[in-house]
Amino acid sequence: MKKKGNLTVILPVYNEGLGILKNTMKIKEVLDLQSIPHEFILVDDGSYDNTWEEIFKLTSLVKLQAFRFSRNFGKECAIMAAIGHVRTEVCVVMDADLQHPPEKILEMYSMWQEENCEIIDGIKKERGKEGLINRLGALAFYKFFSGATGLELEKATDFKFLDRKVIEALKNLPERETFFRGLATWVGFKRGKVEFSIQQRQEGKSRWSFIKLFRLGLGAITSFTTIPLHIVTIMGVFFLIGSVILGGQTLYMKFSGNAVSGFTTVILLILIIGSALMLSLGMIGVYIEKIYNEIKRRPRYIISEKIIDKD
Ligand code: UDP
Ligand code: MG
Repeated sequence: MKKKGNLTVILPVYNEGLGILKNTMKIKEVLDLQSIPHEFILVDDGSYDNTWEEIFKLTSLVKLQAFRFSRNFGKECAIMAAIGHVRTEVCVVMDADLQHPPEKILEMYSMWQEENCEIIDGIKKERGKEGLINRLGALAFYKFFSGATGLELEKATDFKFLDRKVIEALKNLPERETFFRGLATWVGFKRGKVEFSIQQRQEGKSRWSFIKLFRLGLGAITSFTTIPLHIVTIMGVFFLIGSVILGGQTLYMKFSGNAVSGFTTVILLILIIGSALMLSLGMIGVYIEKIYNEIKRRPRYIISEKIIDKD
């Protein structure tokens, strides 16, 4: 028997004033055509354009809950906030700029109905257009992340369809710093996938700068693995071996009366060891920062305004 359930469409929104109304209506249109009962949760992630006013206009057009953050807390927080407010049996998380094609929701929904999947991942066929630095950065990140954590993320996106069980599991995660793509893989459950091509952005331009992406990547790695800390130890072992060999050789030279003015070696050693130490300290610092942030137990986000339709 086919499962039935209401669907919540989750959209994190940051400065999308130009397109948010049109895009939401487009999604509604697609779902209405197939008579899928649905509502929306829009989270305005501290936009400074007219996004909130535009979202307000939607109240008379769609069934909606909307939350406005007091500042920009980031897409990850926006998604987690929305997941915490889902009232229906299933939800789908997608970008507000329609780069995730709404038609694919139908495919996901019928997969959920027929195949007993609990998470359906939107998998991108190819990466969208990006600059060389972003492409290389992404490549390095995914290689390292999957090698260190065993979680495969390369083609994964935030376009995900979640069953109630998964929603509950995600809601109950206590940590402050979240990386949705990683967590949605970490929780497990029966999975399915739907492939799609990344669409052109409808309005405006991407909200991610290289620095923001770098921080997201570093945050993701340090949330899921402590391997970088072990690399520091392994590096230490190598340097120790090197220093025993070099130390032996130096002493031998000294006692055999052949000590040369080895400035080059000294300078090189200082530079190499100095930078290795600094990198290692930095790495440890990132983890300490994480512990520090978690231990403060500050909320993930602060809501300044909300719109809630009656259920
Ligand atoms: N977004 C957000 N907070 C941010 C940055 C982005 O909520 O700080 C939202 C944005 O409005 C969009 C989605 O996250 O709905 C994806 O952002 P964007 O299209 O800028 O990223 P890209 O498509 O380049 O990955
Ligand atoms: Mg986008």
